[in-house]
Amino acid sequence: MSDVTHGEGSGRMPGERAVDAFASAFAGTRPDGCWWAPGRVNLIGEHTDYQDGFVLPLALDRGAVAAVSVRSDDLLRVHSLHEGVTASVRLADVGPGNPSGWLGYLAGVGWALAQAGHDVPGLDVALDSDVPIGAGLSSSAALECAVAVAWNDLGDLGLDRTALAAAARRAENDVVGAPTGVMDQMASLHGRSGSLMFLDTRSMHVEQVPFDLAVHGLSLLVIDSRAPHALVDGEYAERHASCARGASQLGVRALRDIDVTGLDDALARLDDDVVRRRVRHVVTENDRVLQVADTLRSGADPRRIGALMTDSHVSMRDDFEITVPRVDAAVDAALAAGAHGARMTGGGFGGCVLALVDSAAVTSTVDAVRSAYAEAGFDPPVAFVAVASSGAGRVVPT
Ligand code: ADP
Ligand code: MG
Repeated sequence: MSDVTHGEGSGRMPGERAVDAFASAFAGTRPDGCWWAPGRVNLIGEHTDYQDGFVLPLALDRGAVAAVSVRSDDLLRVHSLHEGVTASVRLADVGPGNPSGWLGYLAGVGWALAQAGHDVPGLDVALDSDVPIGAGLSSSAALECAVAVAWNDLGDLGLDRTALAAAARRAENDVVGAPTGVMDQMASLHGRSGSLMFLDTRSMHVEQVPFDLAVHGLSLLVIDSRAPHALVDGEYAERHASCARGASQLGVRALRDIDVTGLDDALARLDDDVVRRRVRHVVTENDRVLQVADTLRSGADPRRIGALMTDSHVSMRDDFEITVPRVDAAVDAALAAGAHGARMTGGGFGGCVLALVDSAAVTSTVDAVRSAYAEAGFDPPVAFVAVASSGAGRVVPT
């Protein structure tokens, strides 16, 4: 039997450990409160968000918890249980590239809020997280959003969730220097139990789409391929540039403006085969997101989205060329074991695979992936069942 962990729905990490860490890091004091924000997983809609397209993530029941007290000066002190250290910076000194490393994700949120004209107090923070780091489940957005909701409440900023997501994104883009879209932060802030978040990244319109798999005897399995991410910055830059070139040659603001019914005509107008394939991925992926959302909204059996998930994987593998052997092996093994659909999720070149499986087949599916990995000589994958959870907010530590 595989050691698959099952989310419990209410299985949020208790804040008690963060409160204890707060007391040891900050001279025996107690925090003003605890704030929690989830990681996320994207059901479908990959590399669409920087072309004004559609995404359909869910907030996980794994996240970051921050035990926080407000300070009377502009110092930000953060103790990370994961790092085992306390780091600090004056908010006045924060800017692009400073502070470097993990503190930038948190300090960057304060900087972005100040840039937006808010009066941002210093904080003492103890930070705990149960989101796997660097697995494509957005441990980074969990940190940013936990501290964003804490600042919003403690500083009485009165910002809505979309405005907080924008500040968290600026932290990641401008202070850390990671060129990501806004999906992760929006999912972490707008997540809702039993729902997917349909996001139109042009209008920023959010719609909750019902995603109650349990009543259909289904589970969404997350399989971390544990493939090492290496040298992917240049790859991402090429995908961004190819999409931008495609949009420009087609005379549209973004590839979102190409409808799938006009795809063949559009492709015929492009002069480069690589650009053609990149465009085909983005246009068909947007269409798949819309089809998945329509299917789920209609209350149909979610098994019907399986084929769209698998088509998405094939498009990422063959047209966008962002998958790697460990990821493809997990998808193939899950499908061979009877999954209704499977695809890589996240930016690519590693990370996690999602498989939509009958709940009774969770263990056998993971076993099948494990066997395939053992045969190929890959490190064993790690798997858990995703539970669509609520978004960031204040929590009572238990
Ligand atoms: P992902 O968001 O997919 O997990 P990223 O590379 O975007 O991967 O973010 C991971 C980074 O976030 C880590 O390298 C670290 O800097 C920071 N981070 C995540 N969790 C923690 C934590 N508990 N404590 C300190 N830093 C963290
Ligand atoms: Mg991240």
